[in-house]
Amino acid sequence: MKDGVLTAEAGLVGRDLELLSPITIEIEDGRVRRIEEGREPGADDDFDVVLPAPFNAHVHAADWAFRHAGLGMPLEKVVAPPDGLKHRLLEKVGERELEVSIRDFLETSLSFGCPGVADFREGGVEGLKLGLRAAEGFPTYVPMGRPKALDDPERVEEELRVLSELTEFVGIPDVHLPDDVLEAVRDSGLRVYVHANENWRSVRECVREHGATEIERAVDLLEPEGIVHCVVLTDRDRELLEELDPVVILCPRSNDYYRLGNPDPRRLRGLRVLLGTDNGMSVEPDPWAEAYHAWIRTGLSPLGALRALTVEAASVFDLPILEEGRRLSAVGLKGLPLPETVLGSRQRLAAHVLQLIKTSRVHVLLGAES
Ligand SMILES: [Zn+2]
Repeated sequence: MKDGVLTAEAGLVGRDLELLSPITIEIEDGRVRRIEEGREPGADDDFDVVLPAPFNAHVHAADWAFRHAGLGMPLEKVVAPPDGLKHRLLEKVGERELEVSIRDFLETSLSFGCPGVADFREGGVEGLKLGLRAAEGFPTYVPMGRPKALDDPERVEEELRVLSELTEFVGIPDVHLPDDVLEAVRDSGLRVYVHANENWRSVRECVREHGATEIERAVDLLEPEGIVHCVVLTDRDRELLEELDPVVILCPRSNDYYRLGNPDPRRLRGLRVLLGTDNGMSVEPDPWAEAYHAWIRTGLSPLGALRALTVEAASVFDLPILEEGRRLSAVGLKGLPLPETVLGSRQRLAAHVLQLIKTSRVHVLLGAES
């Protein structure tokens, strides 16, 4: 958006999502020069609410090509590599079609008002390159590549070396892999993300095969920066998460789509939580719906869910928040009437926004790079 001054009836700003009402934001050279409570005399509001832009911390964008192909099927039949439905479909589909599908997914994300995603990109080095091509022009695309030969530590090492020239991140589908493969991923120097403890069935299988839950195995052999799902948390898992302090990425709508339930809110207390919409095949990349669901189903507060989407994600992925001196990265909402009750409380404003954002017009506001 162009430099200038914008005003809104309310804004949530800074690291703490402080509520300012009304709010004036001045933008110069694409950066936030000044944020103040109040509005200049005679100024008409540009927006009802201004918030930091959301970041969707876990998606599989390519699955968008196969919308609802796995509807009604159990999760492991749909997503488990190498023979799950989505992997068979990914093998069949042409590169061009996949690229178009990822691009369309990202455009849909933007239309929901979300200019940033972290994408678990399948297909090895070529898959990662395809993601990068598809994402050209999308504001913040964080690709998490994965080696193709996940059963051979030497080939994994080689693929990770090439991947590390293209991204800082590796996304591992699960920990049901040989120890030396997981160790090679850990020692790659890449920032590691992995799915774990999504359901009891695969956790029990892991205990049978390896004598450890998926989280125990992840912490022990992978030392990941981020763990996706954590629907199931044993006492020991919870202790390990506290010790290692990885970021926990919840995908509550995906968990419900596959009828896996959601994490016990008491077990999440004190952990660093982000949110992701997960497989494009099953769930649309609407971060606000995810945050609403996380509030209702996993016991995050409305403000906690909004924090997970914005300031918490920004601190992990080094993205701007709505703060003086930072590049403008925000959303402005129009057509969202604000009753008095919500103007006096950040928590109530967050609840109001998460419920009614779908009836408002969402404008993504990004400062131009100079
Ligand atoms: Zn996933």
